[in-house]
Amino acid sequence: MHPWHGRSGAMILAADRILLQPGDPEPVELVNADSRHPLVIVCEHAGRAVPAALAGLGLRPADMDKHVAYDIGAASVARKLAAAFGAPLVMQRYSRLVIDCNRPDDARDLIPEVSDGITVPGNCGLGPQDRCRRIAEIFLPYREALDRILDAAPRRIAIAIHSFTPVLAGISRPWDIGFLFRKDVATSHALARALSRRRPDLQVGMNQPYAIDDMSDWFVPQHGERRNLPHSLIEIRNDHLLTEEGCDRWAGLLAACLGELIEDHLS
Ligand SMILES: [Zn+2]
Repeated sequence: MHPWHGRSGAMILAADRILLQPGDPEPVELVNADSRHPLVIVCEHAGRAVPAALAGLGLRPADMDKHVAYDIGAASVARKLAAAFGAPLVMQRYSRLVIDCNRPDDARDLIPEVSDGITVPGNCGLGPQDRCRRIAEIFLPYREALDRILDAAPRRIAIAIHSFTPVLAGISRPWDIGFLFRKDVATSHALARALSRRRPDLQVGMNQPYAIDDMSDWFVPQHGERRNLPHSLIEIRNDHLLTEEGCDRWAGLLAACLGELIEDHLS
């Protein structure tokens, strides 16, 4: 394996596993791995696993059921979309509290000590070696798997499926769904138009509930923009995704919109 030079300047060798042990899940789950479908689906915040060696990060188990640990419902919506299209899906199994796979390696909150008011004892005062192991064993396999999937066939669009909490730091977020983008304005706007035609009652946010930037995002700058591949990061408010029926409804809606986009613009 080649050494990897992160944006932080750290050189990381990922040849040996030190953090992940037998019994820990593999970081990456691939669905429809051999598919040559032009759509690629990614879900960086799908999972809430914690390597056994990190002893639950010192959190109460109930904290791992909250949005701070993972994107509630996102994995279910992503799986349903992958099934609807027969498209490849790349998912991260480890919690974003272990390492956030939608961040550059020098992001301050790559391995957060505090997230939405919850202190993460297992992340406090980490040394460079501890950070490097999480990058090497969880973050890099994910990025490399996604690069391999994107390289494996002519891809025409990539979407990331996320969910957001209805209230953050005491502020309510009214949007039902947000489409996030920076340079590729067209893809997100086409999806938003297709959605609003079907469901004019929904409140659709463009670059809501937050905006993309190089310091806090990885998928849009590094996979979408760098490859000049049409893309959108889709954020669904997580109170819509608390049941399988809710996930079904939203996956169905998004599948219809994506199908229209692929048919009209990308085929
Ligand atoms: Zn997310």
